Amino acid sequence: MKAVVVNQEGVYPEIAEHEMRALEAGEALVDIEYCGVCHTDLHVALGDFGKVPGRVLGHEGIGIVREVAPDVTSLKPGDRVSVAWFFEGCGHCEYCTTGNETLCRSVKNAGYSVDGGMAEQCIVTADYAVKVPEGLDPAQASSITCAGVTTYKAIKCAKPTPGQWVAIYGAGGLGNLAVQYAKNVFNCHVVAIDINQDKLDLALESGADFVVNGREVEDVAGLIQEKTGGVHIAVVTAVSKVAFNQAIDSVRAAGKVVAVGLPSETMDVPIVKTVLDGIEIIGSLVGTRKDLEEAFQFGAEGKVVPVVEKRPVEDAVAVFDEMAAGTIQGRMVLDFTK
Ligand SMILES: [Zn+2]
Ligand SMILES: [Zn+2]
Repeated sequence: MKAVVVNQEGVYPEIAEHEMRALEAGEALVDIEYCGVCHTDLHVALGDFGKVPGRVLGHEGIGIVREVAPDVTSLKPGDRVSVAWFFEGCGHCEYCTTGNETLCRSVKNAGYSVDGGMAEQCIVTADYAVKVPEGLDPAQASSITCAGVTTYKAIKCAKPTPGQWVAIYGAGGLGNLAVQYAKNVFNCHVVAIDINQDKLDLALESGADFVVNGREVEDVAGLIQEKTGGVHIAVVTAVSKVAFNQAIDSVRAAGKVVAVGLPSETMDVPIVKTVLDGIEIIGSLVGTRKDLEEAFQFGAEGKVVPVVEKRPVEDAVAVFDEMAAGTIQGRMVLDFTK
């Protein structure tokens, strides 16, 4: 079977022949249709989280169940399912039993600690593979499996109410979906902030009420305060310390800052503002099975439409090259249907 794996040195992806093992109890075999390529895959392939030579990459997989182990009741052949970064939790710890399964200390992650979806076939734990609803395009679903659920959950965990202001810092792949969820699902007003005008134009097309170009506006937070009275929620998808600091300065009293992007830096949190204004800072990591089910459903209803570009599997390494060089626009999805 053809697969995109981490090479034997553990430092870059390659296309290789990969042998599929037999199904074990509780598992299902999935014929992959599409798998998105994410920055996290690049980190895994480069060995940034520890080297995993031979690992099949991919946590944005979508495919059709071909076969299930005899004990499986949650899936049947023909079901369309996802292969997500949150691949499996232990099922019994305090996080797994309180709706916080993504924080499970024994979590398995597709394309990192177990083989993922960037292959012609993938084995999933049946009870953890979220079904893709009818009416949702499978290539678009691959993007919701990661970027979609991540941004949906980030906004959801800040508990917005209709009409509130949400600021989205970073209007790229994650940010564009965040704009759509904030606007079309949570019925909020949205301001998008980026330093790239193309991404801001797309944010406006996607429903942002106004946008701020951080390259042109000197006091980003000040402008947002002036126009909105301070946002209720700021979601930071940008991989930039500057954006995190602007986010803290742009919220109103009782505002919430949700951290999603992962710059390897610290943010400057003014203690006086945090205390006097009752600011909350929340970290949000992907989403639970239930979050993904909801994120998919809003996609199926057409409220959220990911922008994806299909690429042949043979292009996989080139896609990683482009990602490493920072030249990718939008979401690249490897096509395993051909
Ligand atoms: Zn991803
Ligand atoms: Zn657990």
